Amino acid sequence: MKKVKIVYTRDNCIGATVCVNLDSKHWIMNKADAKANLIDGTQQGDKWVLETELTQEVQMAAEQCPAGVIEVYDLESDEKLF
Ligand code: SF4
Repeated sequence: MKKVKIVYTRDNCIGATVCVNLDSKHWIMNKADAKANLIDGTQQGDKWVLETELTQEVQMAAEQCPAGVIEVYDLESDEKLF
């Protein structure tokens, strides 16, 4: 399976929960500030980053986040996929 990097701009999350509903393996709501947390992600500046395998769920969360704050990059080529 293709290795990818999820890059999440948490500051701009609007708390729509679409990601959690589509991909609960990677996303959980943080009740304290009503934004999503990227499970096991690490903070790099204003981004949260996680290396993982590309699944349909990972793709759908990125494509359907209404705030457009979830990006997915090919880990090898660094090409933006979604
Ligand atoms: S779908 Fe996007 S805006 Fe909604 S909670 Fe997830 S990251 Fe935030």
